[in-house]
Amino acid sequence: MPEIFINGRAIQARDGQTVMEVAREHGVFIPYFCWHPQLSIAGNCRMCLVEVEGRGLDIACNMPVSKGMKVMTDSDDVKAHRKAILQFITLNHPVDCGICDKAGECTLQDYHYEYNGERSLSRDEKVRSTKFYNLSNRILLDNERCVLCLRCTRFTHEVSKSMALGVERRGDVSNIRPVEDRPLSEDPYSDNVIDLCPVGALLSRQFLHRSRVWFLEPTPSVCPRCSRGCNIQVWHRKDAWRVKALDPKQNESIARITPLENPAVNGPWICNVGRDLAQVFERARAEEPMLKGRPVAVAAALDEARRIISAARHCVAVVSNWGSNEELEAFRRHLGEVFHAFVKQDWQAQPGERIEDDLLIRADKNPNTFRAHELFSDAPAQFPEGTDVVLVWGEGFDFARLPPRARIIFLNSYLQPENGHADVFLPVSVQTERAGHYTNFEGTVSAFERCFTKKPGVSDAEALFKALAAPARGHL
Ligand code: SF4
Ligand code: SF4
Repeated sequence: MPEIFINGRAIQARDGQTVMEVAREHGVFIPYFCWHPQLSIAGNCRMCLVEVEGRGLDIACNMPVSKGMKVMTDSDDVKAHRKAILQFITLNHPVDCGICDKAGECTLQDYHYEYNGERSLSRDEKVRSTKFYNLSNRILLDNERCVLCLRCTRFTHEVSKSMALGVERRGDVSNIRPVEDRPLSEDPYSDNVIDLCPVGALLSRQFLHRSRVWFLEPTPSVCPRCSRGCNIQVWHRKDAWRVKALDPKQNESIARITPLENPAVNGPWICNVGRDLAQVFERARAEEPMLKGRPVAVAAALDEARRIISAARHCVAVVSNWGSNEELEAFRRHLGEVFHAFVKQDWQAQPGERIEDDLLIRADKNPNTFRAHELFSDAPAQFPEGTDVVLVWGEGFDFARLPPRARIIFLNSYLQPENGHADVFLPVSVQTERAGHYTNFEGTVSAFERCFTKKPGVSDAEALFKALAAPARGHL
């Protein structure tokens, strides 16, 4: 345990740690562009220069600690060099923050104000480069904004292993470019480079110019698109910035999805499928309860469902493995005695989707199979003899398998033809409209929170299960 001194403060470091790691662990901030805790050390941006007594300036990211070393992170020399580096980095930078999606979360912008704050000293014309270079069907590259930190290339070499990005040429005409025959569009983790890029050089096509980031806020959530259950942030419009005159749908829609770091589940990464959750949750929604296709109030639909259940001889339920821990438990508690319940696979892999790999992606494309299987058994090939009522909860059920003449109670969130054929149809909320937990394939529990309000005819499944078990007419 070597003792070192940072800005005069004695700190117990561990053998093998770098000055950067020790400083971060003890709350001392050292600026950087190229360093990242999950990537190899490149040491090319030089922003993390610190002064070591008796040694002069050196980069903190690649400097192992040694006993008694005295590090200064804010000496006059360090400040002067930081300023010079920022002058150098912005020499050819277009400074087009006004139209850049990264503005508000750009480290170059932050460091410029913090450590430089001066106009460019250069009198020469800036070297121009490619704007809106088409890196893939998901990502655009602005080479003028790139600070050549090489985080993106290292990510594709070390983490996703697609080797899809490299650098061509040298000096002020050096550019990030796709590697021939290794299309970035085939890398299912490619969008992590957008988050990794410390400036606005790598841009999401989906998010391009859609919103300034300071109009948005993140809600912690969990990706339901496979049993890894990556922790995510669902970004949506802040209440204070709700749109009134323009498209009010913006207030209730997902602006973007980014990873929420959780070392026990996904580290700092997610796959592209997880970023496209709006395509799942923002499909056309079912908003009205129905009896055989006739719209009714929630209370009337519940009354009819209770009547059907009480008149039945053998009730079977196919429960959703997109249900939260709380919803699955509510089903067991309130209806477990009445229904013979089996777990259904709500989602299967979509065409072209990676099935499984050794980074994050799992073959089971559902978030809560683990907990569902702890409570209920697998769906049987045939419905048990005498089944006269089937409660279907969620998507992915083949209605052709229903026993003839069985009455159907259907709980679903989206518009689909079967809604109108069910004896009782009850629309249920989606994940972004409620809070809960999922248990991933390893048994790790992650929480998701509510960010949008559900429509009046839509109910939470948990409340419906309780109401269905009530003996008399009940209201949610
Ligand atoms: S594109 Fe971004 S992440 Fe890649 S080298 Fe340039 S600044 Fe770094
Ligand atoms: S790996 Fe699975 S849980 Fe993680 S983001 Fe991708 S689909 Fe979602």
